[in-house]
Amino acid sequence: MCVFHSAASPQANRQERFSLQLNTFTLDCQVNYSARRQRSIAVRVLDPSRLRVNAPGHYTQAQVRAFLNSRQRWLSRQIASLQARPCPWSGHCRDNSLHPFLGQAVQLRWHTGNHKRVRISGTPPTLVAHVPATLPVAETEAKVTACLQRWYRQQAEALFAQRLQHWVDRIDWLQQPPVLKLRRMRSRWGSCSSRGHITLNTHLIQTPPECLDYVIVHELCHLREMNHGRAFHALQAGILPDWKTRKNTLTAFPLPDH
Ligand SMILES: [Zn+2]
Repeated sequence: MCVFHSAASPQANRQERFSLQLNTFTLDCQVNYSARRQRSIAVRVLDPSRLRVNAPGHYTQAQVRAFLNSRQRWLSRQIASLQARPCPWSGHCRDNSLHPFLGQAVQLRWHTGNHKRVRISGTPPTLVAHVPATLPVAETEAKVTACLQRWYRQQAEALFAQRLQHWVDRIDWLQQPPVLKLRRMRSRWGSCSSRGHITLNTHLIQTPPECLDYVIVHELCHLREMNHGRAFHALQAGILPDWKTRKNTLTAFPLPDH
């Protein structure tokens, strides 16, 4: 919360909502103009895409916008510190909602128009959901959610295979890549079967790339050492000396509960 003082005069209470562009993000600003008690502007960054502003009743939207524009550096700092935190999967796919992708926040903007079906385009940090104008909001949200899940899956399939190959090429005792499977798992990030198949949790696509590499290397080491004994840790540390730091980073990311 940040409070900036100003003189006030009595006006009626009212509310306004508008969008503000800051760097690559569109911020949803909800402004409460309070006549009696509010003598200063108070800005609160609720999440990296939402602001709540309490302003004196005599302020106009143009004045609030000018004020926010004059505080861009402060806002950017607040947003950056929120973005640096692990961003849990919210499941809400509303206009301007944020979604974790490789440890960063990606914003999903709705583009409502003459579209036949819901489709997602664009590249991080901004994705566009093309939404048919005729569809009810709840139905649209469900379809955008399904579409985003498919998008995550496609990104995961391409990137996981590429990173697996990257590590196979660098581990001399591995002749060829193991069979790779992707699954949404609730209790673990990866596993290695006795048949030598590696399964990676699709949700790894939401964590930083160094965490994905850590899980891949960990599971590849299980192809040689099935348990977590000394030999396993020596093998893992030989390939990824900073595996512990990566593991700690991954621990901060919650496993999905759905
Ligand atoms: Zn293990």
